[in-house]
Amino acid sequence: MGRSVLVTGGNRGIGLAIATAFKEAGDQVAVTYNASPPPEGLLGVKCDITDQAQVDAAFDTIAEQQGPVEVLVANAGITRDTLLLRMSDEDWDQVVQTNLTGSFRVARRAAKGMLRLRKGRIVFISSVVGLLGSPGQVNYAASKSGLIGMARSIARELGSRGITANVVAPGFVETDMTAVLPEETQKQYLSQIPLGRFGLTSEIANAVRWLSSDEAGYITGAVIPVDGGIGMGH
Ligand code: NDP
Repeated sequence: MGRSVLVTGGNRGIGLAIATAFKEAGDQVAVTYNASPPPEGLLGVKCDITDQAQVDAAFDTIAEQQGPVEVLVANAGITRDTLLLRMSDEDWDQVVQTNLTGSFRVARRAAKGMLRLRKGRIVFISSVVGLLGSPGQVNYAASKSGLIGMARSIARELGSRGITANVVAPGFVETDMTAVLPEETQKQYLSQIPLGRFGLTSEIANAVRWLSSDEAGYITGAVIPVDGGIGMGH
């Protein structure tokens, strides 16, 4: 039958690759969709993760359709890049509300069911930018490093109940999010990546699926970089 998995933002990009990897491994997979339509072949639940009522409704639907969430991948995220002095309160709030508070909301809700099951896996999708910082991404970097403190606190709080909480920190991956970056910026990133190429969405998905498997049962509170080596040592 497979486990009940939820991938937020699993309707496209890295999230869709993650959702597909779980599906191919035999799990039952739900994905949230918000501004874009749901993908075919997966249970799509309409959910804006900045809205607690929508998060609760999504979890209720998933529990009905495929059982309580046993594996949560908090992947949904946005950027609103600009330099510090130009960054508006709105730029800051939107990014932190989505990336950090949205992930908190889904993790809190998922943990409720996992505590009853006495098992569960939570994986937060952070970014190498959360470790290295990045000019023009003060809001994004703060939200992504915030996920690390959150995951490690959850790991300590819920470890005794068989629940793990880990972080995957991707480097530069070719998706809609990075397609909007100027060519010059892309070239600059490329020159700093030891493996000399950008990552594939499937390479992030493989790490997430493995972290959620029995093989990774003794890993919690970890930050796993999948970044071609760009963040080495951080
Ligand atoms: P995309 O921009 O391709 O997709 C973003 C996803 O997040 C979409 O599915 C979108 O759904 C969802 N989303 C955004 N806001 C909300 C919201 N309020 N409620 C629910 N869902 C929302 O991003 P990527 O696939 O590139 O990135 C996925 C994750 O990986 C992000 O957290 C990103 O920060 C992280 N990451 C990406 C890297 C990269 O190089 N691409 C590098 C490092 C980290 P919808 O379209 O329906 O709004």
